[in-house]
Amino acid sequence: TTSVIEADAVIVGAGPVGLFQVFELGLLEIKAHVIDSLPVVGGQCVELYPDKPIYDIPAVPVCTGQELTDNLLKQIEPFEPTFHLNQEVTVVQRRPDGRFDLETSLGTKFITKTIFIAAGVGSFQPRTLKVEGIEEFEGKQVFYRVKDPSRFEGRNLVICGGGDSALDWALNLAGKAESVILLHRREDFRAAPASVAKMKEMCDNYEMQLIIGQVTGIETKDDKLAEIKVTGADGVTRRLPLDDLLVFFGLSPKLGPIAEWGLEIERKQLKVMDTEKFETNVPGIFAVGDINTYPGKKKLILSGFHEAALAAFGAAPYIFPEKKIHMQYTTTSPKLHKILGVE
Ligand code: FAD
Repeated sequence: TTSVIEADAVIVGAGPVGLFQVFELGLLEIKAHVIDSLPVVGGQCVELYPDKPIYDIPAVPVCTGQELTDNLLKQIEPFEPTFHLNQEVTVVQRRPDGRFDLETSLGTKFITKTIFIAAGVGSFQPRTLKVEGIEEFEGKQVFYRVKDPSRFEGRNLVICGGGDSALDWALNLAGKAESVILLHRREDFRAAPASVAKMKEMCDNYEMQLIIGQVTGIETKDDKLAEIKVTGADGVTRRLPLDDLLVFFGLSPKLGPIAEWGLEIERKQLKVMDTEKFETNVPGIFAVGDINTYPGKKKLILSGFHEAALAAFGAAPYIFPEKKIHMQYTTTSPKLHKILGVE
């Protein structure tokens, strides 16, 4: 039996803009639920550049993607948002009473008065290896993410890719695994030069091996993946026995189910009707951050923060139809001090 959660506001996406949306709603005394398909909050900042410095957050001269996320979490603490992670929002449907039914891939169900889509570039999915028959070994011998590195101890590994993830895992697992072969389709790498240098040094010391080529087929034995076929730059295909195949071809964002919610879409982005409320063509559904588009849109965190503030004011009448909503300063408003718990 699943119970349905009744909510005033549900935020789809826990990137920086979704997190700040919690704050702006909180100041207007609107409590929010936040859903993300990833297991952690922070969106692109955490998934793509946790350690890289950001220089254009107003009044924060420099902070990393992870630090920005940690600070946002601290800032929204007084509003006690409820997080629902590891689940994608799949269904959004308007109800006869004007509210929305919303459902996630884990079966969590909501009835909500308003929805804030802060889904960025969509939900991140690893790019997969396109070779016939490979899907059935996914999660068994073929992996696109490393959850538990100890799983690969004593195994013969082939690691595909030429970016930071492929290099980092090859360097990390060499020595722990029985053997590591890095397989990349060309000689140059997108990874940090220091990692590439380290990899080459380890190859020279026979601690791992680099092969230039592409996986073009697989060979199975007793229902197990036994070998891959690797076609080299010379056009020759060779067989390579292995225990596990790790593939790091990067993440590609997918708009996914959002495309099916009856919202107006322009080049994979949600069109907002005006820049006063950032509401979509469906009244009660707002779009903020990288996912939205309007004349002059810039995909910057600071733009998303501004949009979140105005969207909160735009949504308030759906939740408090009787109430006049005034803007107040956090510095001087006793009411906001109470809400923030700083009295
Ligand atoms: P995102 O950060 O993309 O977060 C969206 C979240 O929604 C994701 O976590 C995703 O999993 C989730 N989601 C999507 N669909 C669903 C669904 N159906 N159900 C559940 N969850 C879903 N901007 C700056 O202002 N300054 C910079 O210096 C800067 N540097 C950058 C450097 C790099 C390398 C990159 C890639 C971007 C940079 N950006 C920078 C851009 C900035 O990261 C984005 O503008 C920002 O992350 C947008 O935030 P967001 O919350 O709108 O979306």
